[in-house]
Amino acid sequence: MAPESRDIDEVLAQLRAYRSHDAPTHGGRVLSYVYDSGRPDLDEVAAQAMRLLQPVNGLDPTTFPSIALMESDLVAFGRTMLHGPAATGSVTSGGTESCLLAVKAARDLWVARGGTGRPRIVLSTSAHAAFHKAAHYFGLDVDTVPVDVASGRAAVGALEAELGPEVALVVVSAPSYPHGVIDPVAEVAGAAADLGIPCHVDACVGGWVLPWWEAAGGDPLPQWDFRVRGVSSISADIHKYGYVPKGASLLLFADGELDLARYFATTGWLGYPVVNPTMLGTRSATSLAAAWAVVQTLGEDGYAGLTCRVVAATAAVVEAVEDIEGLRVLGERQGPLVAVATDEDASPDRRVDPLLWVAAVARRGFTLQGQPSLTQGDGSVVPHTAHLTITPVTDGLLGELQPALVEGADEVRGHTLPSLEALSQNGIPDPVALADGARAGGDLDLTTVLMLIETLPREASAQLLSAFLQRFTAPRG
Ligand SMILES: *Cc1c(COP(=O)(O)O)cnc(C)c1O
Repeated sequence: MAPESRDIDEVLAQLRAYRSHDAPTHGGRVLSYVYDSGRPDLDEVAAQAMRLLQPVNGLDPTTFPSIALMESDLVAFGRTMLHGPAATGSVTSGGTESCLLAVKAARDLWVARGGTGRPRIVLSTSAHAAFHKAAHYFGLDVDTVPVDVASGRAAVGALEAELGPEVALVVVSAPSYPHGVIDPVAEVAGAAADLGIPCHVDACVGGWVLPWWEAAGGDPLPQWDFRVRGVSSISADIHKYGYVPKGASLLLFADGELDLARYFATTGWLGYPVVNPTMLGTRSATSLAAAWAVVQTLGEDGYAGLTCRVVAATAAVVEAVEDIEGLRVLGERQGPLVAVATDEDASPDRRVDPLLWVAAVARRGFTLQGQPSLTQGDGSVVPHTAHLTITPVTDGLLGELQPALVEGADEVRGHTLPSLEALSQNGIPDPVALADGARAGGDLDLTTVLMLIETLPREASAQLLSAFLQRFTAPRG
């Protein structure tokens, strides 16, 4: 049925009804995906900036110079923040696009310098999935180095051992998303530089908060930005700890040659000359405008102030978790992300399974993120965990969050996950049935989904998830 034209008020009312299904984006009850500064004035300036740039096409900054002006202001801010006074780069649509472009640039430079065969990326199991996506899209092989299960960090020697002439790029994280661990950036970037291999620092999540961490009272951090020899590019998502609406990440290159390799340009067709510094052609200028406006409003001191609240809240959450019998904080984490695993030192009847804990804490009004376990290439198993992203508003919620974490653990202490037999009694769940169930009831049993991911071969679970989402987003009826 083709919809008839409708009254604006009615259209917006329906949109509001759709929105009512969403997880809360403000207030700090969802500890992943959203980064609430707690400052309504930032939402307001972003909304006005988006409105102002709404009709502009970001494809061509020569026709719409405001694009170039906003972008160069943000790159200038990034140069100071990341200590790369000569760095160049772009604002992209998000972390994934920044990572894709970092890989594309490195691949093209590798080819330009005479690389033959299939190029490789070296990274550890904690590196973001976006690099696997980049390798898949752009035809590279991935060498995945296991992390040490205790520290959450790959051994420098193991990463170095993978370096060679076919390596187009080595990737380190500051910090890693799963466990919030900062990789040995100086050692890896230095070793790569000795071999002429570029090193990308994925600071998608850390890039807009770690620069102020120590001054905000946080623990001292190792250097991870352009001050480090051998760091050739950095991704830093403005739409995470930059507190701007989704659709903005900063990608900076230390070296103009590598930066230029991310461009795509052609004059080989009948239309206008195409020069694309990023992946898209025609693109909205709204998220760039919102990012620009929020960053101008906050300034360095604004970020420093918000980071103080993140540092305080993170310390409180870590302390609260460490006090919970049966759970432990995983890895040598630094910064605002926390991963929580079962404390294997506790007796079995006192242990808390993080996936059951996530569900129990959800019943108390807070959404943590379950992460599946992974058997690494060397056979070691990184256990499943609960992930918490701490934001400035977490600080004001500690009075509610802390008891929710404690009482959630009390509820499930000593419980074990349902057995695999129970799960697979009726064979592997049908993704279509899972999606239909979630659409009807609005609730998806994430514990089961994560257990499936742990149980099935990785390709099978990836296929199942794709089929699930295809169904979940398909037209109804
Ligand atoms: C979020 C994140 C990404 C991907 O960013 P998106 O904005 O979700 O596309 C990449 N790397 C790290 C470390 C991240 O935290």
